[in-house]
Amino acid sequence: MRNISKRYDDNEVMRNINLDIADGEFVVFVGPSGCGKSTLMRMIAGLEDISSGDLSIDAMRMNDVPPAKRGIAMVFQSYALYPHMTLYDNMAFGLKLAGAKKPEIDQAVRNAAKILHIDHLLERKPKQLSGGQRQRVAIGRAITRKPKVFLFDEPLSNLDAALRVQMRLELIKLHKQLNATMIYVTHDQTEAMTMADRIVVLNHGAVEQIGSPLELYRNPRNRFVAGFIGSPKMNFIDVQVSAADGAGVTIALPGGAALSVPRASDGVRAGDTLTLGVRPEHLMENGADGCDARFAGEVIVVEHLGGETLSHVGLAGGGTIQVKGSGESAAADGQRIEVGFSVRHAHLFRQDGLALGALREAAQASAAPAEN
Ligand code: ADP
Ligand code: MG
Repeated sequence: MRNISKRYDDNEVMRNINLDIADGEFVVFVGPSGCGKSTLMRMIAGLEDISSGDLSIDAMRMNDVPPAKRGIAMVFQSYALYPHMTLYDNMAFGLKLAGAKKPEIDQAVRNAAKILHIDHLLERKPKQLSGGQRQRVAIGRAITRKPKVFLFDEPLSNLDAALRVQMRLELIKLHKQLNATMIYVTHDQTEAMTMADRIVVLNHGAVEQIGSPLELYRNPRNRFVAGFIGSPKMNFIDVQVSAADGAGVTIALPGGAALSVPRASDGVRAGDTLTLGVRPEHLMENGADGCDARFAGEVIVVEHLGGETLSHVGLAGGGTIQVKGSGESAAADGQRIEVGFSVRHAHLFRQDGLALGALREAAQASAAPAEN
């Protein structure tokens, strides 16, 4: 995609999208409702005109190629099955239209049904199926067409939570098995994190950041990405800068303690307000060893999830943060606690939302643990 924009009348809903997707990649478009995910996907599919810019697949410009000739198959949230046809016929329909011969169709349908574990249901009609089975048929119909690119638009949103997790795993396996190029749209950051080779974070019709799940988690380039990726979301606390130089930025924590953060100080001056970002899982109750900074607060609400504990902590200076502790946490309502964290988990954002980059030394130190 090169400089792709989309306008409805005067309203520009997508701005200057630039993206290369490699053969066989699993790319997830993620962002809040209304940010333009479906519009972008529908432009790839040819269901929406591209107002400006170029879309190519296999080095062929696709802007004016009709949907059926683009070599793509799309799976929608609403399944879009033909109610009066059996599963077999639903899955065979596209190939039949394309003029394929019976034995070829039969092999394609049975193969897709087997991959998706619905081969015993082929004579049923959609209304005799559960939601999860229907979604499999919709995916099976895409598989039979052997597309160059699979497009999925929130395909799991209508399923219950347990089934969603199961289908997510099956789609990951399917991607490995088919070695296919897949673009997947979701508003759910967990789906994005678990499924994607690369995530494209969209907001208000523009790309906020593109990267692998862990790149986005570790080095969000702005406050939007920092808050969107990760669950529960990153805590944000406004802080004052007391000094900024080549060694980093020194901030005053809630309660007054100073903390020197090894982040590039470009343009930041003493007296500026920045936003400190720390994830709930990087905050420790009662600031154990290894904490570089601590501040005090009072537990307002505790959520015991069994395996983990989420404490909502009110800070003396106002504002609430979330702390993710172990399942054994003894946190209780009304308790005064000290919260600590390591400086390598501290993110700093300017007022315009941009993250301060890591200093070289800090980047090397945090890259040191073997990841592979
Ligand atoms: P998402 O899939 O991320 O929830 P959409 O791509 O559906 O978002 O919509 C992106 C924006 O484009 C929204 O602001 C929406 O109102 C607008 N939009 C979508 N379709 C149309 C249309 N046919 N006419 C005018 N505006 C539209
Ligand atoms: Mg949508």
